[in-house]
Amino acid sequence: MRNKGFKKRLYTPREGESWICAKCGKPIDALPFIPSKGRPVYHRECLPPRE
Ligand SMILES: [Zn+2]
Repeated sequence: MRNKGFKKRLYTPREGESWICAKCGKPIDALPFIPSKGRPVYHRECLPPRE
């Protein structure tokens, strides 16, 4: 079994709240962290490359 990386806890948006990916514009179901308000959030695959 390969469970690497699946032990992290995932957070979901609160009721009435929604997280929209800043790149593709689709809602995000869960994130491994709670995003700050006003900060853009991304799907893992939409994350901008590190500079
Ligand atoms: Zn996205």
